[in-house]
Amino acid sequence: MTSPVTTETPTLSRPAVPVELVVLDMAGTTVRDDGVVERAFERAANETGVAERMPWPEALDYVRRTMGQSKIDVFTHLSGGDTARAVDATAAFERAYADLIAEEGVEPIAGARQALEQLRAAGVSVVLTTGFAPTTRDAILDGLGWRALVDAALSPVDVGRGRPAPDLVLAAVIRSQASSVASVVVVGDTTSDVASGRAAGAGLVVGVLTGAHDRAALTAAGADAVIDDVSALPALLGIDA
Ligand SMILES: [Mg+2]
Repeated sequence: MTSPVTTETPTLSRPAVPVELVVLDMAGTTVRDDGVVERAFERAANETGVAERMPWPEALDYVRRTMGQSKIDVFTHLSGGDTARAVDATAAFERAYADLIAEEGVEPIAGARQALEQLRAAGVSVVLTTGFAPTTRDAILDGLGWRALVDAALSPVDVGRGRPAPDLVLAAVIRSQASSVASVVVVGDTTSDVASGRAAGAGLVVGVLTGAHDRAALTAAGADAVIDDVSALPALLGIDA
């Protein structure tokens, strides 16, 4: 008996079991960022001196590489482990971010609302995750009018650890009562999002190119598929309008 020989490895683009839950990042994945996060970081750094141990370009590079992680964790690193200063900086960041979105408004990634509606209409649970504190997260949801659009929205403080730990994804599984981690799809714009999905054992991990990191970085972090933006997700999963 001979085995069929193929020269190409098929690209995995669907989990092996029906999708029950999609866990999506917010800034850069479903919500437009346009540098707001970086500017809020800069304001917080200026206000608190949290990054004064290193040249600003170095601090900004760290902020970019760790995009998607819990903000308190990022500030703790920048401050050299000065927890009190990291707490102050996180509060300053959250204030700056709230001010910036109050000044400039908050916009969804084009097609994001329709994609989430398609998933829900197909009986799939939708949970949003973020590295922001709950006050910032909720200000974004209210700005978009999205509270009723999703089953839950989770911040690191709600669950334990932020990304790249698996906690946000695993908490979403528990909240949604999905029957297995294999039925979960994780979607994000950063290597930390991808790593959290892999660490949680998600059935499919998808990168998007509307945020912080590029295709090569997302693939190297373990993404099964990389799509241009979240509007392509329902079709990738075989869920069409
Ligand atoms: Mg993001």
